[in-house]
Amino acid sequence: MTDTQNEGLLIVGEDLCEKLVGRSDAFEAVEAVFSAMARGDAYNFPVIREAIGYADALYGFKSGFDRAGKVLGLKSGGFWPGNMAKGLTNHQSTVFLFDPDTGKLAALVGGNYLTAVRTAASSSVSISHLARKDCKVLGMVGAGHQSHFQLRAAAEQRDFEKVVAWNPHEDMLARLGETAKELGLDFEAVTQQELGAKSDVIITITSAFEPLLMKDWIKPGTHIACMGTDTKGKMEVDAALVASATVFTDEVAQSISIGEAQHAIASGAITESQIIPIGKVINKDHAGRTSDAEVTLFDGTGVGLQDLAVASVAARLASESGQATRVAL
Ligand code: NAD
Repeated sequence: MTDTQNEGLLIVGEDLCEKLVGRSDAFEAVEAVFSAMARGDAYNFPVIREAIGYADALYGFKSGFDRAGKVLGLKSGGFWPGNMAKGLTNHQSTVFLFDPDTGKLAALVGGNYLTAVRTAASSSVSISHLARKDCKVLGMVGAGHQSHFQLRAAAEQRDFEKVVAWNPHEDMLARLGETAKELGLDFEAVTQQELGAKSDVIITITSAFEPLLMKDWIKPGTHIACMGTDTKGKMEVDAALVASATVFTDEVAQSISIGEAQHAIASGAITESQIIPIGKVINKDHAGRTSDAEVTLFDGTGVGLQDLAVASVAARLASESGQATRVAL
């Protein structure tokens, strides 16, 4: 951002984000910011999320500062359940980036596509650092909007041959099968138990409030990325599975309060000190997986710094390519 600060406000819309920010850009940005968080160079501010009492909307913002990358800002937005009927997606968000030297607004960046691509990058970073190298079968629990982004990003991390998938709403699986086929991967819809028995890597990306996978269904050596649980009360896997795995996360504070680990923490099955920030693995301050039999679990709660990191890439690429709209402030 720093080279663009004095040239007015940069506006980067959704289409331009989609055109400019690819999976590898998002991977690099998210991996770098997780690393900065673990070094203490970047931190998230407390999250605000409120039911506004209008249009059934949930609105809030996530913000933070990455001193290493010089990225300061917030993602504002939320969930408007009536949007679909208006031809809009229910989740709406916009990222605001500020010049960290002056506090001046530097860029407005569409946050919808970037949320999906940064969430997929997060599980992808976890697979890159924690999954066994010889993984062949990817298990997908969930078949909604995010699942396609998750699948595409994960497929780049290992030489997967096949995708097995389960979703509570079966009719949604056909589209996920099409995405798998596009990627040259075999696809099979399976039961939850079969998914556990066959998968080397599992991604969960649903809106569940109860466990969809039980501990005894999982093979030794599996890596699980739990990506759907981002709110108090949500749950995708058995708390006993969390307790039996080595648990990594984007941010410990979110993992224990709104992430998948909240339930194992609440029951006392694990303690906060057992949860490892993935940035420590990236920075080589933690070994990560230590055996082929170990079950590793990544609790990807979604932090504001991820949004700021990818929005900053979008703003830089838009500025460099002269494609962004500029407005004098
Ligand atoms: P979506 O509405 O497109 O899909 C929802 C998915 O959850 C579908 O697979 C659906 O069948 C399933 N589902 C719905 N209700 C369920 C229930 N009661 N029990 C079990 N499964 C249920 O949503 P999406 O955009 O694909 O998002 C999926 C989840 O990921 C949401 O919970 C969302 O909040 C979360 N999310 C997390 C992050 C993060 O950073 N961790 C980022 C974005 C979205």
